[in-house]
Amino acid sequence: MPITTDVVIIGAGPAGLFQVFELGLLDIHAHVVDSLPHVGGQCGELYPEKPIYDIPAYPVIGAQELVDRLMEQIEPFNPQFHLSQTVTELQQKDDGRFTLTTSTGTEFDTATVIIAAGLGAFQPRKLRHQAAADFDGKNIHYKIIQAEKLAGKDIIILGGGDSALDWTIELHDKVNSLTLIHRRTDYRAQPASVNKMKALAEDGKLVEFHGMVRDILVDEDKFQGLSVADAEGEIHEIHGDDVYVFWGLSPNLGPVADWGLDIEKRQINVDTEKFQTNVTGIFAIGDINTYPGKKKLILSGFHEAALAAFAVQKHLNPTKRVFLQYTTTSPIMHKRLGIEKDES
Ligand code: FAD
Repeated sequence: MPITTDVVIIGAGPAGLFQVFELGLLDIHAHVVDSLPHVGGQCGELYPEKPIYDIPAYPVIGAQELVDRLMEQIEPFNPQFHLSQTVTELQQKDDGRFTLTTSTGTEFDTATVIIAAGLGAFQPRKLRHQAAADFDGKNIHYKIIQAEKLAGKDIIILGGGDSALDWTIELHDKVNSLTLIHRRTDYRAQPASVNKMKALAEDGKLVEFHGMVRDILVDEDKFQGLSVADAEGEIHEIHGDDVYVFWGLSPNLGPVADWGLDIEKRQINVDTEKFQTNVTGIFAIGDINTYPGKKKLILSGFHEAALAAFAVQKHLNPTKRVFLQYTTTSPIMHKRLGIEKDES
């Protein structure tokens, strides 16, 4: 059964999160879908530790702290998050409502859609060698789902970040052999994990190798491993049953491009009154949209979310007159925010 709702927000970056708040003030409940397993968009995925200096009223705030505070702010509105799933299909029905489907099969029947998809859905950075596509999902993988199935196998892990190191340490004594390949000698992972991995390598419990993947080794259509060039350019053949690539995630516009929207240079054209796209009922806010003078800033996404919320309300209730209410003084706003009335 599809989930029937007034609004689905695609993207849980700062714009999508603040959209929940602005809709909530107008008593509109939202479902939020994101392809990442956590909220926060670029702030959470690309620069959680970095300080931001241009959020109003915060001389400085860490990117993850901003996300945490947005989550705290939207708590009264109880949004429903559908994480680790990418919205793959969006179709308008004859009655004007939309059917929206995700990669895990969640289906929504929604009156409006707000696309807050930023730079696109975050996807794993892939091995780009010619034969890689032939072995994608067979011998070349980008996530580990059932670690116990790797027992007895010769495993190659690519990467130098936390995922690569965590899995290296986790799997080294559960598989037949494990080779960690990283292109540099310095790692992005936590120093404690790096030290642990190096100690295991010194004890001969795994192999640490530095080099660049040059090719996929194939024999009679069977995957054999990788050829890797070391710092001197010498080629080494590293044999294995399966490769797990942990090169991080990069955003990809992906399915958004296929929904019949007016897209210019990978951004969706909107008006600046409603932030509506060329399809009535589909709105776009944050980094994903464009209009004259657009600046890809968190601040811009917040403003766009506020106006889009009023436009969504109008779309849902065209005849209802809406009055602007201040959160400071409006009892209705206080009720929606769950604020106790101060009797003193
Ligand atoms: P995003 O943060 O990109 O979030 C979009 C979300 O949508 C993602 O989580 C993605 O997974 C999801 N998504 C996309 N497509 C789909 C789909 N089909 N299905 C499901 N989910 C989907 N801005 C500032 O204002 N000040 C700064 O100081 C600043 N510093 C920055 C520093 C760095 C290093 C970077 C990279 C950016 C910085 N920015 C800064 C820019 C700021 O991060 C972006 O403007 C902001 O994140 C845009 O928010 P958003 O919600 O529109 O999109």
